[in-house]
Amino acid sequence: MPVTDFQLIIVGGGPAGLTAGLYAARARLNVVLLEKGAAGGQVMNTDWIENYPGFPEGITGLDLAEKFAAQAERFGLITKLCEVKSMDLAGPVKKIFLEGGETLTSQAVILATGARPNQLGIPGEKELTGKGVSYCATCDGPFYRGLEIAVIGGGDTAIQEAVHLTKFATRVIVIHRRDELRASKHLQEKAFANDKIEFIWDTVVTEVIGSKEVEGLRLQNVQSEEEAILAVKGCFVLVGIRPNMETLPLEQLDNDDGFIITDKEMRTSQPGVMAAGDICSKNVRQIVNATGEGAVACLAAENYLSSLN
Ligand code: NAP
Repeated sequence: MPVTDFQLIIVGGGPAGLTAGLYAARARLNVVLLEKGAAGGQVMNTDWIENYPGFPEGITGLDLAEKFAAQAERFGLITKLCEVKSMDLAGPVKKIFLEGGETLTSQAVILATGARPNQLGIPGEKELTGKGVSYCATCDGPFYRGLEIAVIGGGDTAIQEAVHLTKFATRVIVIHRRDELRASKHLQEKAFANDKIEFIWDTVVTEVIGSKEVEGLRLQNVQSEEEAILAVKGCFVLVGIRPNMETLPLEQLDNDDGFIITDKEMRTSQPGVMAAGDICSKNVRQIVNATGEGAVACLAAENYLSSLN
Protein backbone atom coordinates (compact mmCIF):
# COMPACT_ATOMS: atom_id res chain seq x y z
CA MET A 1 0.00 0.00 0.00
CA PRO A 2 1.40 3.44 -0.88
CA VAL A 3 2.60 5.69 1.95
CA THR A 4 0.43 8.82 2.06
CA ASP A 5 -0.32 11.64 4.50
CA PHE A 6 -3.93 10.51 4.87
CA GLN A 7 -6.13 7.56 3.96
CA LEU A 8 -8.87 9.92 2.82
CA ILE A 9 -9.02 13.58 1.85
CA ILE A 10 -12.44 15.23 1.54
CA VAL A 11 -12.45 18.39 -0.55
CA GLY A 12 -15.28 20.75 0.39
CA GLY A 13 -17.18 21.37 3.61
CA GLY A 14 -20.84 21.63 2.58
CA PRO A 15 -23.50 19.11 3.68
CA ALA A 16 -22.02 16.35 1.47
CA GLY A 17 -18.42 16.85 2.60
CA LEU A 18 -19.31 17.21 6.28
CA THR A 19 -21.47 14.08 6.22
CA ALA A 20 -18.67 12.14 4.51
CA GLY A 21 -16.39 13.55 7.21
CA LEU A 22 -18.75 12.45 9.98
CA TYR A 23 -18.85 8.90 8.62
CA ALA A 24 -15.08 8.81 8.03
CA ALA A 25 -14.29 10.11 11.53
CA ARG A 26 -16.66 7.55 13.10
CA ALA A 27 -14.97 4.83 11.01
CA ARG A 28 -11.65 6.01 12.51
CA LEU A 29 -10.11 6.68 9.13
CA ASN A 30 -7.06 8.92 8.94
CA VAL A 31 -9.04 11.70 7.25
CA VAL A 32 -8.86 15.44 6.71
CA LEU A 33 -11.49 17.76 5.26
CA LEU A 34 -10.23 20.71 3.22
CA GLU A 35 -12.33 23.87 3.18
CA LYS A 36 -11.41 27.37 2.06
CA GLY A 37 -13.96 29.33 4.11
CA ALA A 38 -16.52 28.63 6.78
CA ALA A 39 -17.90 25.10 6.59
CA GLY A 40 -21.47 24.79 5.34
CA GLY A 41 -21.27 25.56 1.64
CA GLN A 42 -24.33 27.02 -0.10
CA VAL A 43 -26.52 26.10 2.89
CA MET A 44 -25.03 29.12 4.63
CA ASN A 45 -26.77 31.31 2.03
CA THR A 46 -30.18 29.74 2.56
CA ASP A 47 -32.42 31.68 4.86
CA TRP A 48 -34.87 29.08 6.06
CA ILE A 49 -34.93 25.33 5.49
CA GLU A 50 -38.23 23.53 5.93
CA ASN A 51 -37.56 20.28 4.12
CA TYR A 52 -34.60 18.81 5.99
CA PRO A 53 -36.00 16.00 8.16
CA GLY A 54 -35.70 16.22 11.92
CA PHE A 55 -36.50 19.93 12.20
CA PRO A 56 -40.30 20.10 12.20
CA GLU A 57 -40.32 23.86 12.80
CA GLY A 58 -37.63 24.51 10.15
CA ILE A 59 -34.07 25.71 10.72
CA THR A 60 -31.86 28.48 9.35
CA GLY A 61 -29.15 27.51 6.87
CA LEU A 62 -26.51 28.87 9.22
CA ASP A 63 -27.75 26.79 12.18
CA LEU A 64 -27.96 23.63 10.08
CA ALA A 65 -24.43 24.14 8.73
CA GLU A 66 -23.11 24.66 12.28
CA LYS A 67 -24.85 21.50 13.45
CA PHE A 68 -23.36 19.46 10.59
CA ALA A 69 -19.88 20.75 11.46
CA ALA A 70 -20.29 20.25 15.22
CA GLN A 71 -21.49 16.66 14.78
CA ALA A 72 -18.52 15.73 12.57
CA GLU A 73 -16.09 17.47 14.96
CA ARG A 74 -17.53 15.56 17.92
CA PHE A 75 -16.18 12.38 16.33
CA GLY A 76 -12.80 13.97 15.69
CA LEU A 77 -13.01 15.21 12.11
CA ILE A 78 -10.10 17.56 11.41
CA THR A 79 -10.84 20.46 9.04
CA LYS A 80 -7.93 22.23 7.39
CA LEU A 81 -8.67 25.77 6.21
CA CYS A 82 -6.79 26.10 2.96
CA GLU A 83 -7.22 26.83 -0.72
CA VAL A 84 -6.80 23.90 -3.11
CA LYS A 85 -4.94 24.89 -6.28
CA SER A 86 -5.07 21.69 -8.32
CA MET A 87 -5.18 17.91 -7.99
CA ASP A 88 -3.68 14.81 -9.55
CA LEU A 89 -6.13 11.99 -8.91
CA ALA A 90 -4.74 9.37 -11.31
CA GLY A 91 -2.83 6.41 -9.86
CA PRO A 92 -2.74 5.01 -6.33
CA VAL A 93 -1.39 8.18 -4.65
CA LYS A 94 -3.82 11.08 -4.90
CA LYS A 95 -2.13 14.47 -4.73
CA ILE A 96 -3.82 17.69 -3.66
CA PHE A 97 -1.76 20.81 -4.35
CA LEU A 98 -2.51 23.76 -2.07
CA GLU A 99 -1.93 27.49 -2.57
CA GLY A 100 1.38 28.26 -0.92
CA GLY A 101 3.13 25.18 -2.26
CA GLU A 102 2.06 22.45 0.22
CA THR A 103 1.05 19.05 -1.24
CA LEU A 104 -1.18 16.60 0.61
CA THR A 105 -1.40 12.95 -0.41
CA SER A 106 -4.00 10.26 0.23
CA GLN A 107 -5.19 6.90 -1.00
CA ALA A 108 -8.76 8.01 -1.53
CA VAL A 109 -10.48 11.34 -2.19
CA ILE A 110 -14.08 12.52 -1.92
CA LEU A 111 -14.87 15.53 -4.08
CA ALA A 112 -17.57 17.69 -2.53
CA THR A 113 -16.74 21.11 -3.96
CA GLY A 114 -20.36 22.03 -4.66
CA ALA A 115 -21.70 24.57 -7.10
CA ARG A 116 -22.29 28.32 -7.27
CA PRO A 117 -24.84 30.74 -8.76
CA ASN A 118 -25.08 31.33 -12.50
CA GLN A 119 -24.84 34.85 -13.87
CA LEU A 120 -26.92 36.30 -16.69
CA GLY A 121 -23.98 37.82 -18.55
CA ILE A 122 -25.87 40.99 -19.49
CA PRO A 123 -24.60 44.59 -19.60
CA GLY A 124 -24.52 46.24 -16.18
CA GLU A 125 -24.69 42.97 -14.21
CA LYS A 126 -21.02 42.73 -13.34
CA GLU A 127 -20.55 46.48 -12.86
CA LEU A 128 -23.49 46.72 -10.44
CA THR A 129 -22.87 43.51 -8.47
CA GLY A 130 -22.91 44.53 -4.81
CA LYS A 131 -24.58 47.80 -5.82
CA GLY A 132 -28.05 46.39 -6.29
CA VAL A 133 -27.30 43.17 -8.16
CA SER A 134 -27.14 40.21 -5.79
CA TYR A 135 -26.98 36.42 -5.96
CA CYS A 136 -27.85 35.82 -2.30
CA ALA A 137 -31.19 36.90 -0.87
CA THR A 138 -30.25 35.84 2.65
CA CYS A 139 -27.11 37.95 2.59
CA ASP A 140 -28.53 41.08 0.96
CA GLY A 141 -32.31 41.00 1.51
CA PRO A 142 -32.24 43.26 4.61
CA PHE A 143 -30.71 46.09 2.50
CA TYR A 144 -33.98 46.41 0.59
CA ARG A 145 -36.32 47.20 3.46
CA GLY A 146 -39.18 49.33 2.17
CA LEU A 147 -38.03 49.16 -1.47
CA GLU A 148 -39.23 47.51 -4.69
CA ILE A 149 -37.01 44.75 -6.05
CA ALA A 150 -36.89 42.14 -8.79
CA VAL A 151 -36.09 38.45 -8.66
CA ILE A 152 -34.97 36.81 -11.90
CA GLY A 153 -35.63 33.09 -12.31
CA GLY A 154 -38.42 30.59 -11.88
CA GLY A 155 -36.79 27.69 -10.00
CA ASP A 156 -36.99 26.70 -6.33
CA THR A 157 -34.29 29.15 -5.34
CA ALA A 158 -35.90 32.15 -7.07
CA ILE A 159 -39.36 31.44 -5.69
CA GLN A 160 -38.25 30.52 -2.17
CA GLU A 161 -36.13 33.65 -1.98
CA ALA A 162 -38.88 35.85 -3.52
CA VAL A 163 -41.10 34.82 -0.61
CA HIS A 164 -38.26 35.48 1.85
CA LEU A 165 -37.59 38.92 0.34
CA THR A 166 -41.18 40.05 1.03
CA LYS A 167 -40.07 40.30 4.68
CA PHE A 168 -38.10 43.38 3.64
CA ALA A 169 -39.28 44.70 0.28
CA THR A 170 -42.67 46.33 -0.28
CA ARG A 171 -42.99 44.65 -3.69
CA VAL A 172 -41.10 41.74 -5.25
CA ILE A 173 -41.42 41.32 -9.00
CA VAL A 174 -40.46 37.88 -10.28
CA ILE A 175 -39.28 37.95 -13.90
CA HIS A 176 -39.36 34.57 -15.60
CA ARG A 177 -38.47 33.67 -19.16
CA ARG A 178 -41.40 31.27 -19.56
CA ASP A 179 -45.10 31.35 -18.61
CA GLU A 180 -44.76 28.57 -16.05
CA LEU A 181 -42.51 28.20 -13.01
CA ARG A 182 -40.01 25.39 -12.59
CA ALA A 183 -40.29 25.63 -8.78
CA SER A 184 -42.08 22.95 -6.74
CA LYS A 185 -45.86 23.31 -6.41
CA HIS A 186 -45.62 23.99 -2.66
CA LEU A 187 -43.32 26.98 -3.22
CA GLN A 188 -45.47 28.19 -6.14
CA GLU A 189 -48.57 28.16 -3.93
CA LYS A 190 -46.76 30.20 -1.27
CA ALA A 191 -45.64 32.76 -3.83
CA PHE A 192 -49.02 33.03 -5.59
CA ALA A 193 -50.71 33.55 -2.21
CA ASN A 194 -48.34 36.37 -1.26
CA ASP A 195 -49.81 39.71 -2.29
CA LYS A 196 -46.40 41.41 -2.26
CA ILE A 197 -45.22 39.18 -5.13
CA GLU A 198 -46.00 39.94 -8.77
CA PHE A 199 -44.93 38.03 -11.86
CA ILE A 200 -43.73 39.18 -15.25
CA TRP A 201 -43.94 36.17 -17.57
CA ASP A 202 -42.22 35.28 -20.84
CA THR A 203 -39.66 37.98 -20.22
CA VAL A 204 -35.88 38.21 -20.07
CA VAL A 205 -33.72 40.95 -18.59
CA THR A 206 -31.38 42.35 -21.22
CA GLU A 207 -29.63 45.07 -19.19
CA VAL A 208 -29.17 46.23 -15.63
CA ILE A 209 -29.50 50.02 -15.72
CA GLY A 210 -27.74 52.37 -13.32
CA SER A 211 -24.58 54.40 -13.00
CA LYS A 212 -23.54 54.02 -9.34
CA GLU A 213 -26.30 51.66 -8.26
CA VAL A 214 -29.20 49.76 -9.78
CA GLU A 215 -31.95 52.08 -11.02
CA GLY A 216 -33.87 49.67 -13.19
CA LEU A 217 -33.93 46.72 -15.59
CA ARG A 218 -34.41 46.63 -19.33
CA LEU A 219 -36.88 43.85 -20.12
CA GLN A 220 -37.81 42.10 -23.32
CA ASN A 221 -40.88 39.98 -23.87
CA VAL A 222 -39.72 36.81 -25.62
CA GLN A 223 -43.01 36.47 -27.56
CA SER A 224 -43.64 40.03 -28.77
CA GLU A 225 -40.00 41.21 -28.48
CA GLU A 226 -41.45 44.38 -26.91
CA GLU A 227 -39.08 46.20 -24.57
CA ALA A 228 -39.88 47.85 -21.25
CA ILE A 229 -38.02 49.45 -18.35
CA LEU A 230 -38.78 48.31 -14.81
CA ALA A 231 -37.68 50.74 -12.10
CA VAL A 232 -36.27 48.78 -9.14
CA LYS A 233 -33.52 49.37 -6.60
CA GLY A 234 -32.40 45.79 -6.37
CA CYS A 235 -32.21 42.73 -8.55
CA PHE A 236 -31.65 39.18 -7.33
CA VAL A 237 -30.30 36.89 -10.04
CA LEU A 238 -31.35 33.37 -9.04
CA VAL A 239 -31.05 31.39 -12.27
CA GLY A 240 -29.44 28.12 -11.25
CA ILE A 241 -25.97 26.98 -10.48
CA ARG A 242 -22.70 25.85 -12.05
CA PRO A 243 -20.10 23.44 -10.69
CA ASN A 244 -17.11 24.51 -8.61
CA MET A 245 -14.78 22.61 -10.90
CA GLU A 246 -11.83 24.96 -11.34
CA THR A 247 -9.49 22.92 -9.13
CA LEU A 248 -10.66 19.54 -10.43
CA PRO A 249 -8.62 17.59 -13.00
CA LEU A 250 -11.56 17.18 -15.39
CA GLU A 251 -9.36 15.34 -17.90
CA GLN A 252 -9.05 12.57 -15.29
CA LEU A 253 -12.77 12.35 -14.43
CA ASP A 254 -15.83 11.59 -16.55
CA ASN A 255 -17.99 14.69 -16.30
CA ASP A 256 -20.95 16.48 -17.76
CA ASP A 257 -19.89 20.10 -18.33
CA GLY A 258 -17.94 20.00 -15.08
CA PHE A 259 -20.55 18.11 -13.04
CA ILE A 260 -18.87 14.84 -12.03
CA ILE A 261 -20.41 11.59 -13.20
CA THR A 262 -20.67 8.91 -10.51
CA ASP A 263 -22.20 5.47 -10.13
CA LYS A 264 -24.77 4.58 -7.46
CA GLU A 265 -22.00 4.26 -4.87
CA MET A 266 -20.77 7.77 -5.72
CA ARG A 267 -17.62 6.36 -7.37
CA THR A 268 -16.20 8.45 -10.18
CA SER A 269 -14.43 7.05 -13.25
CA GLN A 270 -11.15 7.31 -11.31
CA PRO A 271 -10.45 4.44 -8.85
CA GLY A 272 -10.29 5.72 -5.27
CA VAL A 273 -12.11 8.96 -6.11
CA MET A 274 -15.70 9.51 -5.02
CA ALA A 275 -17.90 12.60 -5.46
CA ALA A 276 -20.93 13.79 -3.50
CA GLY A 277 -23.34 16.70 -3.39
CA ASP A 278 -23.97 19.47 -5.92
CA ILE A 279 -20.74 18.82 -7.86
CA CYS A 280 -22.27 15.55 -9.10
CA SER A 281 -24.14 15.23 -12.38
CA LYS A 282 -27.77 14.66 -11.28
CA ASN A 283 -31.25 16.14 -11.40
CA VAL A 284 -32.05 16.72 -7.76
CA ARG A 285 -29.89 19.05 -5.70
CA GLN A 286 -31.27 19.07 -2.19
CA ILE A 287 -29.47 19.14 1.13
CA VAL A 288 -31.03 15.83 2.02
CA ASN A 289 -29.58 13.97 -0.97
CA ALA A 290 -26.23 15.75 -0.61
CA THR A 291 -25.90 14.37 2.91
CA GLY A 292 -26.99 10.91 1.77
CA GLU A 293 -24.42 10.98 -1.01
CA GLY A 294 -21.73 12.06 1.46
CA ALA A 295 -22.45 8.96 3.55
CA VAL A 296 -22.51 6.67 0.50
CA ALA A 297 -19.26 8.19 -0.81
CA CYS A 298 -17.54 7.56 2.51
CA LEU A 299 -18.68 3.92 2.58
CA ALA A 300 -17.37 3.51 -0.98
CA ALA A 301 -14.07 5.06 0.12
CA GLU A 302 -13.89 2.58 3.03
CA ASN A 303 -14.51 -0.32 0.64
CA TYR A 304 -11.82 0.99 -1.70
CA LEU A 305 -9.32 1.35 1.17
CA SER A 306 -10.09 -2.22 2.35
CA SER A 307 -9.52 -3.50 -1.17
CA LEU A 308 -5.98 -2.08 -1.08
CA ASN A 309 -5.03 -4.38 1.83
P1 NAP B 1 -32.91 25.62 -11.32
O1 NAP B 1 -33.87 24.64 -10.77
O2 NAP B 1 -31.94 25.20 -12.37
O3 NAP B 1 -33.77 26.84 -11.89
C1 NAP B 1 -33.15 27.90 -12.59
C2 NAP B 1 -34.23 28.88 -13.03
O4 NAP B 1 -33.60 29.98 -13.65
C3 NAP B 1 -35.19 28.27 -14.03
O5 NAP B 1 -36.48 28.76 -13.82
C4 NAP B 1 -34.63 28.76 -15.36
O6 NAP B 1 -35.62 28.94 -16.34
C5 NAP B 1 -34.07 30.11 -14.99
N1 NAP B 1 -32.93 30.49 -15.83
C6 NAP B 1 -31.80 29.80 -16.07
N2 NAP B 1 -30.96 30.50 -16.85
C7 NAP B 1 -31.59 31.66 -17.11
C8 NAP B 1 -31.26 32.80 -17.87
N3 NAP B 1 -30.08 32.91 -18.50
N4 NAP B 1 -32.14 33.83 -17.93
C9 NAP B 1 -33.33 33.75 -17.28
N5 NAP B 1 -33.70 32.70 -16.55
C10 NAP B 1 -32.85 31.67 -16.46
O7 NAP B 1 -31.99 26.30 -10.18
P2 NAP B 1 -32.30 26.63 -8.64
O8 NAP B 1 -33.64 27.23 -8.49
O9 NAP B 1 -31.13 27.36 -8.14
O10 NAP B 1 -32.30 25.21 -7.95
C11 NAP B 1 -31.13 24.38 -8.01
C12 NAP B 1 -31.46 23.06 -7.31
O11 NAP B 1 -31.61 23.28 -5.90
C13 NAP B 1 -32.76 22.46 -7.80
O12 NAP B 1 -32.63 21.07 -7.85
C14 NAP B 1 -33.75 22.84 -6.73
O13 NAP B 1 -34.84 21.93 -6.64
C15 NAP B 1 -32.89 22.84 -5.49
N6 NAP B 1 -33.43 23.76 -4.47
C16 NAP B 1 -34.39 23.30 -3.61
C17 NAP B 1 -34.93 24.15 -2.64
C18 NAP B 1 -36.00 23.64 -1.71
O14 NAP B 1 -36.51 22.57 -1.94
N7 NAP B 1 -36.38 24.34 -0.67
C19 NAP B 1 -34.51 25.48 -2.55
C20 NAP B 1 -33.55 25.92 -3.45
C21 NAP B 1 -33.03 25.06 -4.41
P3 NAP B 1 -36.36 27.69 -17.03
O15 NAP B 1 -37.32 27.18 -16.00
O16 NAP B 1 -37.00 28.28 -18.21
O17 NAP B 1 -35.26 26.72 -17.37
